[in-house]
Amino acid sequence: MRVEKLDEHTYAIDVEPCNVKGFISAYLIKKEKTAIIESGPACSVKHLLSSLAKLGVNPEKVNYLLVTHIHLDHAGGSGTLLRGFLPNARLVVHPRGAKHVANPEKLWVMARKALGKVAEMYGAPEPVPEDKIVEAYDGMTIDLGGGVKLEVLETVGHASHHLSFYESSSGRMFSGDSAGIYIPDLDVIVPTTPEPFYLDAALDSIQKMKNVHPRFLCYTHFGCVENASKWLEAYASQLKLWEKIVRECLLKGEGLETMRKRIIDEDNYTGKAANLMSSHPIMGRGMLLQNIQSFVEYVKRNMKAK
Ligand SMILES: [Zn+2]
Repeated sequence: MRVEKLDEHTYAIDVEPCNVKGFISAYLIKKEKTAIIESGPACSVKHLLSSLAKLGVNPEKVNYLLVTHIHLDHAGGSGTLLRGFLPNARLVVHPRGAKHVANPEKLWVMARKALGKVAEMYGAPEPVPEDKIVEAYDGMTIDLGGGVKLEVLETVGHASHHLSFYESSSGRMFSGDSAGIYIPDLDVIVPTTPEPFYLDAALDSIQKMKNVHPRFLCYTHFGCVENASKWLEAYASQLKLWEKIVRECLLKGEGLETMRKRIIDEDNYTGKAANLMSSHPIMGRGMLLQNIQSFVEYVKRNMKAK
């Protein structure tokens, strides 16, 4: 089902990029004001809009579009939405992401380099009008009225400009990519660590989210889970285990393939998910190796610094 009601004012929307179901959730929060968290990529704008219609939400009544970061799968559709479809919405984004969504040429070049044909599937981002951009800082609050507020947490690591949003009345933490990728069919999490990845920052961000004691963790990939603390802790342990394996392999002069095998053996979650990931139309065969490669770069940077 494309739209799911989570509580009195929160809805999850499967934006189905390139008709791939169960990979990108956007969230709608509707109180006195209306906010959408994550636009999804350009190719899924039509699905997001049809979901709004299904929910009886007038696009003119959407006040905010918040994006956790500017990667195409999270924010690529925001220019298209703000220019053509959500006339009264403002985009809430980290200050380091603001200039790139206003002038997305560089973002598009980087995305094609990092994602290859998946970037083409997602579609090119359109520029967001500068006067519609709100730069969001750690600790800032977006008040939707009726006791519903979104608190901004800077949660860097996955990206240097990553935000999470916490809604205390429902206890939901919208974690973007800062808590990993949850695969509902397998009930597992896997890392998402594109380069440049900063493990220490990512671990600090996980702790920061834990500190507010959320009840639910609402992933962009994919869906909400209860026991937020348990899943946050599991992600921290998983990242630390990957770092340990990569460091040990580097010291022995072993390569990516050995690291991949050891990770699949020793990390139960990744072990369970590896086949699904490699046959997934978006995650694909390269994703696991790319994520491991980012740990290699991280560990090498750290070794040099010591
Ligand atoms: Zn993502």
